[in-house]
Amino acid sequence: MLEFRKDDLYIENVKLSNIAKEYGTSTYVYSKQQIVNNYESYKNAMGAKEGLICFACKTNSNGNILKILSELGAGADTTSGGEIYRCLKAGFDPLKIVYAGVGKTSEEIEYALKSSILMFNVESFEELVAIDKVAGKLKTKANIAFRINPYVNPDTHSYIVTGKKDTKFGIPYEDAIKAYLTAKKKKNINIVGMHFHIGSQILEVEPFIVAAKKVKKIIDEVEKNGIHISYIDCGGGLGIKYEPGDKVPSPKNLMSKLFPIFDKDKKFIFEPGRSIIGNAGHLLTKVLYRKISGRKSFLIIDAGMNDLIRPTLYSAYHEIVPVKKTGAKKVKTDVAGPICESGDFMGKERMLPLIEQGRYLLVTCAGAYGAAMSSQYNSRPLLSEVLVDGKQTKLIRKRASYKDLTLNEIE
Ligand SMILES: *Cc1c(COP(=O)(O)O)cnc(C)c1O
Repeated sequence: MLEFRKDDLYIENVKLSNIAKEYGTSTYVYSKQQIVNNYESYKNAMGAKEGLICFACKTNSNGNILKILSELGAGADTTSGGEIYRCLKAGFDPLKIVYAGVGKTSEEIEYALKSSILMFNVESFEELVAIDKVAGKLKTKANIAFRINPYVNPDTHSYIVTGKKDTKFGIPYEDAIKAYLTAKKKKNINIVGMHFHIGSQILEVEPFIVAAKKVKKIIDEVEKNGIHISYIDCGGGLGIKYEPGDKVPSPKNLMSKLFPIFDKDKKFIFEPGRSIIGNAGHLLTKVLYRKISGRKSFLIIDAGMNDLIRPTLYSAYHEIVPVKKTGAKKVKTDVAGPICESGDFMGKERMLPLIEQGRYLLVTCAGAYGAAMSSQYNSRPLLSEVLVDGKQTKLIRKRASYKDLTLNEIE
């Protein structure tokens, strides 16, 4: 949904420089149409298969974004009580909410049970005991799937691999059957599914297939023991195009290969996060200063690692573009923020025109794990967020103030 018209970069039908002028910088900007398109491509790929597309809301939990997805009929993949709260507030049907995470507290478990969510994705034997206990106290039954660690190692950043051996996630593959047999004996547990999630920003279908085949073996074994698995939750993790050369598999590529692995009666859940919101959101920033230091050039911008931490946390690449074309010569330059850390950069050694102070740059494809991971480090108030729909713009989070910085401090 980004496009140059003459010299100006537009998101949908709005000039980005106008957004910067109206709402100030730095700010996240989202395209509603892109979110809808991304969701539809999952929905269409599901075709007539029964199941759910559960948006992984840890990627972006702004209520307006969540509302777009809940209104489209999406479910939600949550990782905390706070996320369940946000999703219910945004109108998600609780029966479309799944809840994963290795460290669910008993308060969170109780909240999830009282909210009547679809299922817990259970990640350890002790968590199973905890859920059984809380469900007993509430005189209810908890629907569960186990998150099975299928031991595959997709080619992505080590911090976002979750399905190989020796990660903290899921039930170790060799313990999977024991987990189901244990759960079968618990009074307050109702087994409904099996879950796997192998990592994030995965650009090949193959690791999903390897994982699915391993999970299928467990399902067969478990079903021989009289336990019925209705839902197969295949997790999220499809990558998006960050760099010009990235080739991205589509949901259709993925599903058309996954579905035949399992029996026809199975219902499927997918938990895409990044591939729904990643390329729908961008970070709009202003150039504060140009600087030459030794042999290096810098563009210092008004967005820092507190606003978008991915470049420094994951060595992530985000394409950076001036929102107005210029004839100025391109030079190799680092794009850095105002924070007092050498790790505070948005891009290194980029070929960019050394545009003037006050001009705007767009750090693209920052909709996922961008605003959601932002912080007030260096006492920088949280930035604003703007949603674009056709010709219209809407402020969906106002910029925080200095007062907000000390809001919860006690004198
Ligand atoms: C993070 C996460 C997702 C979403 O991953 P993406 O790569 O953003 O699609 C889905 N499921 C679980 C359990 C997760 O932890």
